[in-house]
Amino acid sequence: MPTTFEYTWDTPAYKGKTSFPTGLYIDGKWVDGGDKSTLDVINPTNGKILTTISEATPADVDVAVKVAQKAFDTTWGLNASGATRAKLLNRLGNLMEEHIDELAALEALDNGKTFSWAKNADLAGSIGCIRYYAGWADKITGQVIETDENKLSYTRHEPMGVVGQIIPWNFPLMMMSWKIGPALATGNTIVLKPSEFTPLTALRMASLIHEAGFPPGVVNILVGLGSTVGAAMAEHMDIEKLAFTGSTLVGRKIMEAAAKTNLKNVTLELGGKSPNIIFDDADLDQAVNWASHGIFWNHGQACCAGSRIFVQASIYDEFLKRFTEKTRSLKVGDPFDEDSYQGPQVSKLQYDRIMGYIDSGRQEGATVHFGGERHGEEGYFIKPTIFTDTKPDMRIVKEEIFGPVGVVIKFDDEDDVIRQANDTVYGLAAAVFTQDINRAIGTAHKLKAGTAWINCVNQLHPNVPFGGFKQSGIGRELGEYALHNYTSVKSVHVNLGHKMK
Ligand code: NAD
Repeated sequence: MPTTFEYTWDTPAYKGKTSFPTGLYIDGKWVDGGDKSTLDVINPTNGKILTTISEATPADVDVAVKVAQKAFDTTWGLNASGATRAKLLNRLGNLMEEHIDELAALEALDNGKTFSWAKNADLAGSIGCIRYYAGWADKITGQVIETDENKLSYTRHEPMGVVGQIIPWNFPLMMMSWKIGPALATGNTIVLKPSEFTPLTALRMASLIHEAGFPPGVVNILVGLGSTVGAAMAEHMDIEKLAFTGSTLVGRKIMEAAAKTNLKNVTLELGGKSPNIIFDDADLDQAVNWASHGIFWNHGQACCAGSRIFVQASIYDEFLKRFTEKTRSLKVGDPFDEDSYQGPQVSKLQYDRIMGYIDSGRQEGATVHFGGERHGEEGYFIKPTIFTDTKPDMRIVKEEIFGPVGVVIKFDDEDDVIRQANDTVYGLAAAVFTQDINRAIGTAHKLKAGTAWINCVNQLHPNVPFGGFKQSGIGRELGEYALHNYTSVKSVHVNLGHKMK
């Protein structure tokens, strides 16, 4: 029998409790994995085991795909009206809002992000996303296309069927919402795999999805390892579409698996090494504050993190001075302390990876201008870190670190910075700071990135698409664009009297 996770918080930021089943959620029931194996969930604040939960196997993926197909054919898909789908999504959004503190606390506990950021950014964004797609559910329309007078031709945007969704650990609930919102609004059924590092909010959501009244089998949630359950999903012959957020390495594996099996439709949201460009006419205090948010928000564990900060030579020294003071002011500490800005990294694995990058920066000759070491005695805390004196071919300049580590680089003029900013295999996001409107828009258009921010960074809205150029991904999430990921276009030709001789 699956266990129940129970937890009570009595912290400065939050007092409250939670209790929910932690089995695999398949066909509206909580069950153990096929071979009864389990996974430990670790608290990144102290490195100790929080709880032990059921682990899925590839055989469970098969079961989940079958029940999802049955739900698609009987209660969902073309059998549930847009109004019904909207009603259920709105109920889910309302339930999430009713439980906003509890969900934020779970996210903070499991991932290590602070409670206040979890509530004000992750939960607000997740609820907004579910409600946004509830609004779309009864507005999925095709087109009538004029051809000749004896024919009626039109398109239908039909749901694809069973979709697989594999999500990461950096924004567990927000990534889940970005995935399930458009998929459910358009009438698909879902097999979703949360990250094995942060499964708790997805499991709590299973209870809320159940309570909202989605028919059994419409959403199935399987916690398991990427190499077993994730790979089985990527290879599955009856999953019509797979949506993935995570590393470029795994994104590549998913495309390979899709190519070798049923050519399933794949959308990928992958890594980044986003440039943040600060021109000499920028509002410097604002540029400093945004640059800090750009790299240190969510402890640098954001695919769009502004990890390469380019500063024009004439203001470089002053920027660095103020940016260092700002960084010094960021309090690293327990996610449930009210004044903490930065909690621990998500796992020992990520902690070790990031410390490895910091070592490589030192060895390759860059200067650790600030930080560069662990914080505290336990847990996976790393001080916010600034590197200077870098060279373009250093690993810390080229590779995604996914931690609180930024490089500050001097540039001369617009041509120089655009060349450097675009000198990366990634193309997820970019930012530019200047008071000159022509320079701002001109630069934004020249940057090879799926999102360009002007005088801000890390701005995400459910209504605005998000996704990458180059090796940062394929397809767009959010906005109306995401609906295309989850519908197949059918063209219907109706003969209105044309006779065949
Ligand atoms: P990952 O890509 O390994 O994990 C993301 C998800 O993919 C998880 O659910 C994981 O279980 C699953 N997965 C892993 N191997 C799989 C496989 N072979 N087939 C199918 N699914 C698989 O990411 P990670 O190891 O947790 O982190 C490594 C790096 O990835 C990070 O340092 C960071 O650079 C990057 N990353 C990017 C994002 C993003 O938002 N773009 C999110 C997380 C991690």
